[in-house]
Amino acid sequence: TITIGKIFDLTVNKYPNKEALYDVRKDLRYTYKEWSIEVTKLANALLNEGVKKGDIVSTYLFNTEELATAFFACAKIGAIFNPINFRLMSEEVAFILNDAKPKVVLFEKMLESSISPIAERFPHTSFWIIDDGVPSYAKSYHEKVIEAPNNEIEADIHENDIYAIMYTSGTTGRPKGVIHRHREMVEQSLIVIGSTRLTPSDNGLVTAPMFHCAELHCAFLPRVHVGAKNTILHHFDPKGVLQLISTEKITKFFAAPTMWNMLLQEPLDNYDISSLKLGLYGAAPMAPALVYACQNQLGISLVQAYGMTEMGPAITFLDEDDQIRKAGSAGQACLNHEIRIVRPKEDGPSDPDDILPAGEAGEIIVKGPCMMSGYFNRKEASEKAMFKGWYHSGDIGYLDEEGYLWVKDRVDDMIISGGENIYPREVEDVLYAQGGVLDVAVIGQPDDRWGESVTAFVVKKDPAITEADLDEWCKNSEELANYKRPRKYVFCDVLPRNASGKIQKFVLRKQLEDLFANGKS
Ligand code: AMP
Ligand code: MG
Repeated sequence: TITIGKIFDLTVNKYPNKEALYDVRKDLRYTYKEWSIEVTKLANALLNEGVKKGDIVSTYLFNTEELATAFFACAKIGAIFNPINFRLMSEEVAFILNDAKPKVVLFEKMLESSISPIAERFPHTSFWIIDDGVPSYAKSYHEKVIEAPNNEIEADIHENDIYAIMYTSGTTGRPKGVIHRHREMVEQSLIVIGSTRLTPSDNGLVTAPMFHCAELHCAFLPRVHVGAKNTILHHFDPKGVLQLISTEKITKFFAAPTMWNMLLQEPLDNYDISSLKLGLYGAAPMAPALVYACQNQLGISLVQAYGMTEMGPAITFLDEDDQIRKAGSAGQACLNHEIRIVRPKEDGPSDPDDILPAGEAGEIIVKGPCMMSGYFNRKEASEKAMFKGWYHSGDIGYLDEEGYLWVKDRVDDMIISGGENIYPREVEDVLYAQGGVLDVAVIGQPDDRWGESVTAFVVKKDPAITEADLDEWCKNSEELANYKRPRKYVFCDVLPRNASGKIQKFVLRKQLEDLFANGKS
């Protein structure tokens, strides 16, 4: 039986004196042996609190040593790890606590203002604060851990036991808790190790949010698996990232497209980033022009992962050698993963056997060894999402003749104008390549004549660019048919994004509605 606890123990036994973890904010360094003592102590502290196998332990933390420690402590005692998005506000956290009913919540001082108004609604949950000041409703994390013994944990954990419940971003409706088992995450970790060629001598940087599976499963966990080092940055900040690359000799890290974009805006000559070998990107679409810019300006290889929390997450990788030849593609299916493109259905899940030929776009459905067991407390949603054993992604894409996947956009974000389908991502990629554009999002706007018309929200890089420049650029583009050209531009300072770097298009649609309601256009 393969479990996450076993992965950890194997590495600790193999590399006890190797540096395992560096928490930048606390300036704290652990070797694998030292870290394992912390993990064991926290595991015992949770047992002392009455946490049993199958109980849920939530974390409401930024990227911290304690989140990393809790991840393995839970795995060792068979508690279900539930990392909560640190960007959520108190009522959103309350929704998750109501749904998951955790035994213990670990939270940090900076997030206390979201916990204090709701804590007393959860009398069966024990709140542990990571701080010296302990509010009346909470207990001290440090005291709990200091008092706990360091004796080995005896627990009977099986690979089919649940390891985590991770709530998805929920841009539509309430967040759903994705259930994953130990075996699924060990398989995912092995896939990532291969695809990013991880070795024990790699130095990884954790800068994307650890509560999200892209960082947790595609970067942090596989590094522990091979005995590499994790440098943990509390939250993303481009200067901090560049500085750490030079001081910690970082070799590989994951960042969402928007983070790569921010890194490129920094004066790169001021930093020594020569240690950097490979960058992993994903979790949202990345414009090919941005991929090229990263390769040229940072001088590194890039690998793309595409996937979703429900699948562990990665289901395809675009290898470094394919970044130019297959620019814009999400790459090929991971080991043991089967991808199909099927005809989308308006009413209910698409039929897995209604397969479309190569080159034709439809819904991306997938099967694989890292697929979730379902959504927590959501039988109906689970059956729909995993209809006939295939995970229905809600993404539109096609497979080319060579079996490479091309992700066009979300089903829900597709624009239909004059009866033609327009994928916002195509338009965004063209606009991003203009050079004067720092960031862009395209949505459909209701239109009496065409059904919908294309509207682009643009953040300027070059303050001098105008609507006319962008329109000219689109007119001259070989990649954009006339009907896809934005008919309206809205310039703004920043685009709304969630913590994993996805643009929140529902916010933009609302903004557009308000603009019209106020008669500003
Ligand atoms: P999540 O809720 O974080 O699990 O997000 C999953 C969704 O993110 C997918 O269904 C895609 O729409 C999007 N996504 C993830 N990776 C990529 C990628 N490499 N390219 C384009 N979209 C992506
Ligand atoms: Mg999703």
